[in-house]
Amino acid sequence: MVRKAVCCCGQCAIEVAGEPSINGVCHCGDCKRRTGSAFGWNVYFADAEVVSIIGEVRDYRLEGHNPQTRSSCATCGSTLFWKSAWLPDHTGLAGGRFAEPGLPEPTVTVSNHGREPWVELPGNWATELKL
Ligand SMILES: [Zn+2]
Ligand SMILES: [Zn+2]
Repeated sequence: MVRKAVCCCGQCAIEVAGEPSINGVCHCGDCKRRTGSAFGWNVYFADAEVVSIIGEVRDYRLEGHNPQTRSSCATCGSTLFWKSAWLPDHTGLAGGRFAEPGLPEPTVTVSNHGREPWVELPGNWATELKL
C-alpha cells in the first residue's frame, strides 16, 4: 500500500509504502510547537519505504535535545517530514497529513510528562518506545 502525506496547500507531498515502523503520539514541547496542537502524531517509515517527494520543500534545522531537520512546503509552511538524529535510517512524518488512505491507530504515547491533563488516550497503548 502506498500512502500520501499532503501539505495544506497541496503543492507538496511525500509518498511512503508499507507500514510505519513507529506510530505514536508525542507530548513534548517541540511537537506541540511544530503542530500548534496538544501533541504530535508522529509516524516513522524506513527510508527505503519513501517512494517519492513531490514539490519544493524548505529545510529547517532544529538543534537541542532532539536534533532534527524538518522539511516543510516552501509555499504554505506545513511540516511534511523530518530526519532525526536518534533514528537516522527512518523518515518521520506528520500523521495528520495522511488523508486517504489514512494510518492505523497509534500504538505508543511518548514524552508523557508533557501530556496535557485533559488528554485521554486508549489504555492499551505503550507508554515508552521500544525499538
Ligand atoms: Zn503547501
Ligand atoms: Zn515530540
